[in-house]
Amino acid sequence: MTGKLYYQDAYLTSFETKIVKEGFDESQKKAYVLLEDTAFYPTGGGQPHDIGEIDGHNVLDVEEVNGELRHYVETIPKRTDKVSCSINWERRFDHMQQHAGQHILSAAFENTYGYKTISFHLGKEICTIDLAITDINEVEINQVELICNKIILENKPIITKWITEEELPAYHLRKELTVKDNIRLVIIPGVDDNGCGGTHPKSTGEVSVIKILGLEKQKKHIRVQFVCGHRVRHQLHDKHKVMVELTSKLNAPQEKLSEAADRLIENNRELQKDLENLKSQLIQYEANELISNAHLLNNVHVISSVYINRPISDLQDLAKDLLTKKNNTIIILISDNQEKLQLVSARSEDINLNLNAVLKGILPDINGKGGGKPSFVQAGGDKAISSESLLRNFLENVKNVIN
Ligand SMILES: [Zn+2]
Repeated sequence: MTGKLYYQDAYLTSFETKIVKEGFDESQKKAYVLLEDTAFYPTGGGQPHDIGEIDGHNVLDVEEVNGELRHYVETIPKRTDKVSCSINWERRFDHMQQHAGQHILSAAFENTYGYKTISFHLGKEICTIDLAITDINEVEINQVELICNKIILENKPIITKWITEEELPAYHLRKELTVKDNIRLVIIPGVDDNGCGGTHPKSTGEVSVIKILGLEKQKKHIRVQFVCGHRVRHQLHDKHKVMVELTSKLNAPQEKLSEAADRLIENNRELQKDLENLKSQLIQYEANELISNAHLLNNVHVISSVYINRPISDLQDLAKDLLTKKNNTIIILISDNQEKLQLVSARSEDINLNLNAVLKGILPDINGKGGGKPSFVQAGGDKAISSESLLRNFLENVKNVIN
């Protein structure tokens, strides 16, 4: 059994020991070593593992597997009788801050409102606890945050203690234990007694600060997002950066940003409306222009045009507008989009002509697909022929069908 130095001293960052076994995890394809003693905390009890070095060889992961405390290493150290080890203190202390902060937060919710924590997660960026409730209000959230930070300021000791099952009745545990032997308690006097195998700072003051960031309503519980300690400073730094950028871009102070964004959205909505009006006016103008260029084919007016990179919705709008303006008319509009050709064709109701039949005749020319009502069709295909040829072939087919 490896000696767990992190339980003797959570602040131990470097130590010397022996490598007692080397191994290779086939499923993870990773080499590992077992140490006589270790200060490397393995993933467990909701707290992520430590990283660091053994004799200059990187420790990437630490896991307890079948009672073995495996240190997964990039490369196996050469020396085994005496190795110098160091853990990444920044990462460890961050986990200690978040973990102790979680105990304080869960205790504050339970002690103040009776809201029980059913699970927690110490994430890479933010941490969460899940409360066994389906609703919570802002007053409660603010109150709990205030209480947590008061507990931190009071700098209460965080005591760890190993006890037996017989000694348990002397304590009021926040949650039921999952173990019966080697019971380890983490106690914040007057705040919280909790069974826990994690590493914690020696007093609440070292958590520094707790900030609740948000809530997420889940089906059967409320998820509370929070950060502690250094992470609060990082969060503030990132959020402040965004705020500074936005105040400059929107030319408004922080407290007026929301208003400025509302104005921008409203402006955008109005511009959109104006744009739609202008577009419809343009379509009308274009339609009149096309009508003046119409020509006769077997006593039927033909209105045709070829465009470059025009959305098919424009062609549809144009065709619809033309139909309201002129009888005894066939319309054919084509958009030439580099590798693709698209077309819209329509006819006035006073002409007896099935445009699907016309379309069928030209679709093979462009390996195309299309169809619609007998009086209104659209199609698209490859630019296997030029847009002008497509127009010519289409009108040729119209002529044949009309006759
Ligand atoms: Zn814990």
